[in-house]
Amino acid sequence: MTSATEQHAAPFAALSTQLTGGLFTPTHPEWDRARTGWNVAVDQRPAAVAEVADVADVVAVVRFAGQNGLYVAAQGTGHQAATLGPRLADTILIRTHRMRGLRIDAEARTARAEAGVLWGELSAAAGEHQLLGLAGSAADVGVVGYTLGGGLSWLARKHGLAANAVVAAEVVTAAGEVLRVDDSEQPELLWALRGGGGSVAVVTALEFRLFEQPTVVAGALFWPLDRAADVVPVWERWTRDLPDDVTACIRLLQFPPLPDIPEPMRGNSFVVVEVVHAGDEADAQAIVAPLRALGPAMDTIATIPAPALAHLHMDPPGPVPGVGDGFVLDDLPAAAQMALLSTAGPGSGSPLLSVELRTLGGALSRPAPGGGAMSSVPGRFLFYSVGIAPDPASQGAVLAHIELVRESLSAWANPHSCMGFTEHAVDPSTFFADTDLARLRAAKAAYDPHGRIRTGHLVTVLD
Ligand SMILES: Cc1cc2nc3c(=O)[nH]c(=O)nc-3n(C[C@H](O)[C@H](O)[C@H](O)COP(=O)(O)OP(=O)(O)OC[C@H]3O[C@@H](n4cnc5c(N)ncnc54)[C@H](O)[C@@H]3O)c2cc1C
Repeated sequence: MTSATEQHAAPFAALSTQLTGGLFTPTHPEWDRARTGWNVAVDQRPAAVAEVADVADVVAVVRFAGQNGLYVAAQGTGHQAATLGPRLADTILIRTHRMRGLRIDAEARTARAEAGVLWGELSAAAGEHQLLGLAGSAADVGVVGYTLGGGLSWLARKHGLAANAVVAAEVVTAAGEVLRVDDSEQPELLWALRGGGGSVAVVTALEFRLFEQPTVVAGALFWPLDRAADVVPVWERWTRDLPDDVTACIRLLQFPPLPDIPEPMRGNSFVVVEVVHAGDEADAQAIVAPLRALGPAMDTIATIPAPALAHLHMDPPGPVPGVGDGFVLDDLPAAAQMALLSTAGPGSGSPLLSVELRTLGGALSRPAPGGGAMSSVPGRFLFYSVGIAPDPASQGAVLAHIELVRESLSAWANPHSCMGFTEHAVDPSTFFADTDLARLRAAKAAYDPHGRIRTGHLVTVLD
């Protein structure tokens, strides 16, 4: 059988001459580099990879796909590469990492980020103006992909999902048309992009609100993993009455003995509580007192510049081979805590690097006025677990253990999940309320009637 790449060899050569960026097909010497995303465990096999340099490149690729019976999928970093799978075979992967334009308007308190901008870059630039964007835990996650999927930040309980802060988007539609959409120009398209996952158009830039927040009180409390049975119940009780300006996370962490991992983490295991308080230090000290009463072995909670939040979660600084997945928990009663500890705690034999629960609630639980396709998240905790998996054997072992932990907690799971933390195919009703899903499908049918744009998660039948 002829592959899509072989079938389109001559037209691909013509497309290549139109691009300021680069076009890579399987015979190109840089093919393996070009097709590899941030998650290097994922073997992406698209028909071709277009490294777009500007909007004109995106238009050329989208029009080419339409004229040649192919599809496109946009990718900023490839943090969520695992979700695209075999659908890539007849798809041009549009990689946007060369599009790094970033503008902060300090007076209007907004940012405009092109499709390749990373959160670490945006947080640093906004921080120069004492402003903060709703970044997640990892500095090298893409601003656009994260925000289109909702975006759960360190200030999520105070400000809600990052998608709620979006005020405008610049896009290339499936027909190759360039648009800037906002509340008055094509508002339905903007609505579908805000938390809808990016299936209605290829986004070339997003504009969103920033928040005045020069510093935060933040840090982590570490105990040896053996103390997990003491810490987990106290943490669960502590999260019940948190003010909205506190977002927190508990983690069971097992660091492998790799030279890249700094001391004292290397080869050691911990139960860790990470806390972010968007308020003053005296209040924060009182809030964390019940946790400190458990005598952590290490305590880094202090007032820090807001951009330094990029280091709090100790996410890897660059690409890694990982298998991870997440879901939402409604509750964590004693029986759920026991299930968690027996599958992922000390002595469980878990191969997982990190098993974590992030606090939901607060502003996340309230649909944002004028919000988009996903504007709130139900449930008490976002659960996410991940393991390092460089080869098929370890990938299988990690995946099996993720399933084991999930199964043990299934009685407390919420049917809803967060798109950004879901790394396997799920029914789209997992992400959206019925009315929002119907509206999203109508927007897809209107803006991409032939289903040219594919996304990691199948939101509509046309993806
Ligand atoms: C280490 C790590 C830490 C994380 N921390 C957080 C966190 O704190 N909070 C949180 O909410 N999430 C977090 N995530 C999840 C993350 O938000 C998702 O993986 C997100 O999809 C990453 O966006 P990306 O652009 O970097 O990834 P990509 O894989 O490049 O993109 C993901 C998807 O976004 C869509 N997309 C990307 N660019 C475009 C575009 N230009 N136009 C249209 N669609 C596009 C596509 O559907 C694509 O498949 C984390 C993930 C990892 C691996």
